[in-house]
Amino acid sequence: MTEPILPRIRPAIAALAPYRQGKQAGPDAFKLSSNENPFDPLPSVLEALQSTTPINRYPDATAARLRTRLGARYGVEPDQVHVASGSVSILHQLILATASVGDEVVYAWRSFEAYPSLPLVAGATGVQVPLTTDSRHDLDAMADAVTDRTRAVILCTPNNPTGPIITSAEFATFVERVPADVLIILDEAYAEFVTAPDAVDGLAERVFERHPNVVVLRTFSKAYGLAGLRIGYAIGHEKVLDAARTTGIPLSVTSAAENAAIASLDAEPELLERVAVIVERRTRLLEGLRAQGWEVSDSQANFVWLPTGERTDDAAAAFLENDLVVRPFSGDGIRISVGEEESIARVLEVAGALR
Ligand code: PMP
Repeated sequence: MTEPILPRIRPAIAALAPYRQGKQAGPDAFKLSSNENPFDPLPSVLEALQSTTPINRYPDATAARLRTRLGARYGVEPDQVHVASGSVSILHQLILATASVGDEVVYAWRSFEAYPSLPLVAGATGVQVPLTTDSRHDLDAMADAVTDRTRAVILCTPNNPTGPIITSAEFATFVERVPADVLIILDEAYAEFVTAPDAVDGLAERVFERHPNVVVLRTFSKAYGLAGLRIGYAIGHEKVLDAARTTGIPLSVTSAAENAAIASLDAEPELLERVAVIVERRTRLLEGLRAQGWEVSDSQANFVWLPTGERTDDAAAAFLENDLVVRPFSGDGIRISVGEEESIARVLEVAGALR
């Protein structure tokens, strides 16, 4: 059989692989591969979904109700808030808006798996700056990596998949070192799980006011448990966000997602109680792993990082045999989400046997 002639794909795209999700879990397994929230949706959120405006109508293209709500909460104008179908969409929109052929985008590595494809899809070049030996962003090296071709820098705090935060002081020094016309994306997808008092909090510190080149990213996927509805937001300068609104696909936030996000904000005290439960489980996991002799970094997110190095594939298979679906990064380590209560002891048991 001869191969059919297919449309020409841009070489930069043909060289990339589509985004790959963590393994799906069988009915008896714990799915600890995508940093999801293990709790069932709140009844009030389900109710909001049921009362969603008729689905034969398009949603409000600007998600104005949610932007107004978030604006009031953070003390910014609604136009300083941008809502999209997941914060990963906003990452795409911002990189498309700032970087093109010949431009560079700097980010730490290892970090969120979606980052490498972002500059490449835009035709730009990614510049990866290795994490420090204790799995943190090396902000000095990242500032050194900024050239006159750099259009954007992505910072991830807490860092997925290793867990440590960037401190306020580190961030303040970094921003001063980066030219004011370079976009800095502060990806705070896991912010609600942070307990370290010295962690940067782009929204509480209102960094985007002093530095209009900083955009803070948040999501409803993790702490708020709406991963399946796809909704995230950014706060920053109105004109920067206008550029993201321009590169984004119109009408991609559904009315169901907007309603559920608003209901989640209404139910925030209850959701934050759940976050506290996850944080307590995280502490037990980290302490348990350390007691077994694992050198685990201080995760401030809803996952922990097991540095399994060359043994990663075998170690991941051992977790899988015990119905624990985790996220291996071959040759490096395993990211394990902090999930259901019963999963904690089981993770510790398997990790202990690997020592
Ligand atoms: N940023 C980071 C660091 C993440 O880990 C994730 C999800 N894994 C996202 C952004 C995207 O989240 P979402 O698109 O679900 O909002």
